[in-house]
Amino acid sequence: MADGPGLRTSIYCAGCNHHCPGCHNPQSWDIKNGKWMTIDEIMEVIKADEFSNVTFSGGDPFCQADAFTELARRIKSETRKTIWCWTGYTIEQIRADEHLAQMLPYIDTLVDGPFILEQRDTQLLFRGSPNQRIIYLTPKEEDVCEGAVELVKLR
Ligand code: SF4
Repeated sequence: MADGPGLRTSIYCAGCNHHCPGCHNPQSWDIKNGKWMTIDEIMEVIKADEFSNVTFSGGDPFCQADAFTELARRIKSETRKTIWCWTGYTIEQIRADEHLAQMLPYIDTLVDGPFILEQRDTQLLFRGSPNQRIIYLTPKEEDVCEGAVELVKLR
């Protein structure tokens, strides 16, 4: 599984409460397994690569919704980079929760839903199982890819 189209700076966070059987990265479930970084430090890494867009993965970035919202807001206000974000929540769960939903306005493409081991499909682009959706929130030409659905179709 790749972290989205084109060149990207990937931010892998620790902390995930979904605990999907067969998870590709169970070490990431415990938030203590990560390395603490400030938003300023992460912004430095992101800005150092002029040509790369940004990916949030993990773990689940929505398990640190306040911090990732602030990081995403800074990326959008200080750069022209797109943001792809992977999460174990569905977009419906995110939109129903004010605390989680605060991050959505800054995300360009969301890959949503838990990994379902029984449905594992290694041929899928950017996903481990077909329940997971690549959802364009703000379609950007450089991010267009096979298998994506537009948010408008979910309404
Ligand atoms: S949401 Fe992702 S990181 Fe979290 S348990 Fe599921 S597959 Fe693993």
